[in-house]
Amino acid sequence: MPESPDSEDLFATSPFRDGAPKTEFPSSEILPQAAYQLVHDELMLDGVSRMNLATFCTTWVEDQARRLMDESLDKNIVDKDEYPQTAELEARCTRMLADLWHSPDPTGTRGTSTTGSSEAAMLGGLAAKFRWRARGGRGIPNFVCGPVQVCWEKFARYFDVEIRQVPLRGDRLTLHPDDIAAHCDANTIMVVPTFGQTFTGLFEDVAGISRALDALQERTGLDIPIHVDAASGGFMAPFTAPDLVWDFRLPRVKSINASGHKTGLAPLGAGWAIWREAADLPDELVFNVDYLGGNMATFNLNFSRPGGQVVTSYYNFIRLGRDGYTRVQSAAYEVAGYLADGVRKFGPFELIHDADPLRGIAAVSWRLTGEQTFNLYDLSDRLRTRGWLVAAYPLPADRQDETIMRVLVRHGFSHDMADLLLADMDRALAQLDKHPPSSSLTREESGGFTHSATAEVSTAEFRRRRAEQAAQ
Ligand SMILES: *Cc1c(COP(=O)(O)O)cnc(C)c1O
Repeated sequence: MPESPDSEDLFATSPFRDGAPKTEFPSSEILPQAAYQLVHDELMLDGVSRMNLATFCTTWVEDQARRLMDESLDKNIVDKDEYPQTAELEARCTRMLADLWHSPDPTGTRGTSTTGSSEAAMLGGLAAKFRWRARGGRGIPNFVCGPVQVCWEKFARYFDVEIRQVPLRGDRLTLHPDDIAAHCDANTIMVVPTFGQTFTGLFEDVAGISRALDALQERTGLDIPIHVDAASGGFMAPFTAPDLVWDFRLPRVKSINASGHKTGLAPLGAGWAIWREAADLPDELVFNVDYLGGNMATFNLNFSRPGGQVVTSYYNFIRLGRDGYTRVQSAAYEVAGYLADGVRKFGPFELIHDADPLRGIAAVSWRLTGEQTFNLYDLSDRLRTRGWLVAAYPLPADRQDETIMRVLVRHGFSHDMADLLLADMDRALAQLDKHPPSSSLTREESGGFTHSATAEVSTAEFRRRRAEQAAQ
């Protein structure tokens, strides 16, 4: 027997000879270094997040940000009284974002950090629902949108609001201003343009949509507000397309959500919801928590949340400022543009978004053209053998016949990595050409990486069940 367990070779101890607990709650202890090694080693199978070109989320953070995350590990953001300076940093961030997005009253308006855009979207939607009801709205509320991220389908179901998704038509891949009026009525609580679509990376035309709603108001008297889902565009356009008007410069825009953990450059778990003016967030949604002997307003779905994401967001804002964010985001667009050129040169692809900063985020999306012996799922699968995760997925209704591929270019993805990816694409295409798949992969077989969750109960079936319940 060894003198002490400390001197044993870790991989010769029983946890490593017997396997990790997987089902029943384990009965006995193991040493922390053994538990660490077991978990660490299992996670190797997750692959390298920086080669995950399907995700919008932060995969590279500075050492100083990591340190602040570590130092904040034990701080609960809801304890405003115990951690008043974390609360102060959050308040500063919301004022800075209200300023960045041109609120008419950046120091007086309301906003909050969230766990991500999903929570922020729910809060924006709830505020719109409450404002509509306060205006005398009755019946089943609805909202109008294009091909949205799944959080809006969740909002609709969880909070009993009808989602009116304008179907895609031909080459119109974004919500078109001309299509909106036909879907709006007295129960429309908001229109939700996506500023940086999940599917293509394209910006929807918020100013055009706002003008269409102005015209609708003139004709019918309906005054329908806009909530902008700027999950990824909200931290790009202010720096790289400052003249593009999509934010609170449009009076109809009453609230905006953005993911701090996407183009905001914060670690995972950071989002923001900001209202145009304080009055746009109904008081009924606000709760007060103790703060330095007084009260501080909170409006969140969670109670306890980690404080580090807000702390590191503040770090990023003061570390980079407008100049730094402009440099970081411009670099991403440059690499994305370079990648787009490379993809175009292969031949069989038609670019949908080539990372033009005026048209969308730093992403490249494309479809296959002509008769090919392979599909984009086959290509995605080939690239995976080299560690690259590149999303391939069908477009939303009514263009599900079309498959597209998308690469997100994020902070930390360099020109050199783009070269490596292009070389691997070249190899993969040559291989697919030489050995055409006898039967092409389906979306399910290739994994897909669509970043859209599929509902357990389809929208059509959900509607049927709701109608049935309502009739009873
Ligand atoms: C990612 C995304 C969301 C969801 O945001 P999370 O921060 O992941 O909760 C919502 N809308 C759009 C357009 C997105 O890209």
